Amino acid sequence: MTCAEGLHLVFGGTFDPVHHGHLRMAVELKERLGVSSVHLMPSKAPPHRPQPGASAEERLALLALAVNGEPGLQVDDRELRRDSLSWTADSLQQLRDELGPACPLAMVVGTDAFAGFDSWRDWQRIPELAHIVVIRRLGAELAAGSAPSQLQQARAADSVEALHRQPAGLVLSLALPVLDISATMVRQRLASGRSARYLVPDRVLQEIQARGLYGSRSSSGGNLRQ
Ligand code: ATP
Repeated sequence: MTCAEGLHLVFGGTFDPVHHGHLRMAVELKERLGVSSVHLMPSKAPPHRPQPGASAEERLALLALAVNGEPGLQVDDRELRRDSLSWTADSLQQLRDELGPACPLAMVVGTDAFAGFDSWRDWQRIPELAHIVVIRRLGAELAAGSAPSQLQQARAADSVEALHRQPAGLVLSLALPVLDISATMVRQRLASGRSARYLVPDRVLQEIQARGLYGSRSSSGGNLRQ
């Protein structure tokens, strides 16, 4: 990893499975933040959340199919390759070591995830390592006076350009068009035999069905026929 591309943008998540909400958001972010690529970084087994419905290898395979051929989207599988649990602060430290101290680095997080930011391991280290780009998601507001809300106010970036000018330390809150899709919604539809078509890329849905993930093999209602 080098700093050649300027601001390095990391979009982490469980991607269980990746869906059009993630992909559309990555494209919106790329254009709005003026970066050449968005690095999608699947997490191994986030300890603070229920365990993923698909294995790390399966989620990575689906993600690779989803971004295949899209030059602005890259998959960074460092957390899945690590033996131990994946902590965001450690991944950002690793990226910081690779990129060097002067390279602008930012991580993206939705308000739903950012609302619990102060429960993340070593969360106070994170603004020293990277900027944080918070995407507003409906129904997920930051509690007034909470640590994430205070952090957002204290470190508010006044522009997108500010993220390109310094290596870390700012919180940029962005309202971007968000598709009302969640991985939970996709898993629930597959498990109950309903269609997940148009929620995830066709190629991803075919692979989910071929592998029988999320209970999809036992049903016929969600089958993709083409
Ligand atoms: P789940 O329903 O399993 O909680 P999810 O759909 O929220 O999953 P994650 O993999 O947990 O997806 O999310 C990774 C990141 O993507 C988080 O920062 C989350 O806020 C963001 N995200 C998820 N869905 C969308 C969406 N539809 N639009 C924009 N961002 C999204």
